Amino acid sequence: MIYDVVIIGAGPAGLAAGLYASRARLKTLIVEKEKAGGQIVTTAEVANYPGSIENATGPTLVNRMVEQAEEFGAEKVIDTIKEVELEGKIKVLKGEKGEYQAKTVIIATGANPRKIGCPGEEELTGRGVSYCATCDAAFFEDMEVYVVGGGDTAVEEGMYLTKFARKVTIIHRRDELRAAKSIQEKAFNNDKIEFMWETVVEEIKGDGIVESMVVRNVKTGETTEIVADEEDGPFGIFPFIGFIPATGLFEGKVELEDGYIVTDEDMKTNIPGVFAAGDVRVKSLRQVVTATADGAIAAVQAEKYINENFND
Ligand code: NAP
Repeated sequence: MIYDVVIIGAGPAGLAAGLYASRARLKTLIVEKEKAGGQIVTTAEVANYPGSIENATGPTLVNRMVEQAEEFGAEKVIDTIKEVELEGKIKVLKGEKGEYQAKTVIIATGANPRKIGCPGEEELTGRGVSYCATCDAAFFEDMEVYVVGGGDTAVEEGMYLTKFARKVTIIHRRDELRAAKSIQEKAFNNDKIEFMWETVVEEIKGDGIVESMVVRNVKTGETTEIVADEEDGPFGIFPFIGFIPATGLFEGKVELEDGYIVTDEDMKTNIPGVFAAGDVRVKSLRQVVTATADGAIAAVQAEKYINENFND
């Protein structure tokens, strides 16, 4: 079977594309690696998506988006795409479970959290190291937690963690935050938040669970080992140091800039019939509201492309 549109990724961009494409009666498939959501699922509060009030969380918002896309007939499959052939008139996506053919492809693969890259980080992920406060904050009830980073995500998630943790220390490599001033102010006024300035994490240690971490002051070069409170046992480390676009599949196939996909304002990539939407593309604001807008535009342009290039 040849789909009109195959969308890779089921975050807000992919789900909005799925909604618009299926509403336009295009035969639409959304391929997602694990489960729907993308990064927004890791967000406890979505206060800046228009209309999303009354304690809207990332997961509730995404669940509604999934329901809405499926209501209009978009199909969903869990599969990991391993290879793409995008040049031909019919695009071919090879997954672990199956092969998918489509007249158009919308790339909405988003971006993944950047890792600190220090010894111990990988081994202790899920064992004290977490990239999702919403998912894991409850494990650190009344314990100590360290957040790494100085951007909006680090500071906002740090504040969220104070609802659970006894103390949250934000470790930042410079002496001032990158986060928006309004977000900074709230953090500075929060008694449970402390800051460790001009500091980087060098190593995370522990036997099956985080027990200590070595940090280095970038100005003085001095290293310190932070050891978990004996009564607590472990502590939590939440790195929020930015994101890396998920574009490995498209290297050498679609035009990229610093790893992000280059599109025009109609979400068209340099390959006819291939569109990109959301955080994966070069853009100035990566938010749910801009991701969903991208998805809508990409789907409408895909429909236009099909009308112009296929006469069946
Ligand atoms: P970001 O703005 O890129 O900030 C990353 C932070 O991590 C920076 O403070 C950076 O330090 C630090 N960092 C980067 N690499 C590091 C490393 N290897 N070791 C230690 N620290 C490192 O990322 P983000 O906070 O995830 O935000 C991403 C985008 O989403 C931004 O555009 C942001 O505005 C947006 N966002 C918006 C909201 C909101 O509007 N409510 C919420 C979350 C995110 P330096 O400052 O020294 O570079």
